[in-house]
Amino acid sequence: MIGTQTGQIIHYAVRSKDCRVCSSAASRNEPPKPHDCYQNWKGSAKAMKADMVTQMVKDVGEKGFTVDAVVGKENPSQISSDLDALSKHPFGDHHCCSSRWCRFIKSVTQIANTNRSLIENPLSTKNLQSYLEKVFTAYAGHSNKLSSLGITQGNESFNHMVAAKAPNNVHFSSSGNLSYKVAACVAQKNNGHKYLVSVNRSLGLSSGFFTERLALEIPSV
Ligand SMILES: [Zn+2]
Ligand SMILES: [Zn+2]
Repeated sequence: MIGTQTGQIIHYAVRSKDCRVCSSAASRNEPPKPHDCYQNWKGSAKAMKADMVTQMVKDVGEKGFTVDAVVGKENPSQISSDLDALSKHPFGDHHCCSSRWCRFIKSVTQIANTNRSLIENPLSTKNLQSYLEKVFTAYAGHSNKLSSLGITQGNESFNHMVAAKAPNNVHFSSSGNLSYKVAACVAQKNNGHKYLVSVNRSLGLSSGFFTERLALEIPSV
């Protein structure tokens, strides 16, 4: 989660479906020995992202900050069908609507008392509808571009950083390895390469003459 004002990472989360210790114990049909278990996800990979966002927004809120808006990458086909629905929904046609935002397709009777006038009298101006349809169809054609609106350079550079430290073709997530690598990326993103010097110092190790010199020379991303 990157703050819009500072461009710094204000929170991060890691989800892992796998734990080497647990799975090797399971393959022997034994209970796992006590260990630091990094497996913290059992659901689908698709739901992972939503769960992490929920957790981060909650954590940030508990620290006393308010999240005004979360910008993320939407599914282009979802955007396209939502845009199609925009020229139909106000006219009483809900077949392109999504239950994520259209209450009419869930239960008309449930909301009939609060919004009866709109249910009984949807807009009926044909000219307006065809005009709106033209406008939103044009936008729907750009759903790919719209899906990445608001994605900052920061997200992309962080993704590259993680991919460099934890390449997809190497399986790091079944131990604490991935969490440490992601934490290192967060430190590198926020403080530049000099984070290595700070880590060494806080561990009581030599900061490293060449490491320190190199860290100052490499520009922060
Ligand atoms: Zn485990
Ligand atoms: Zn609708």
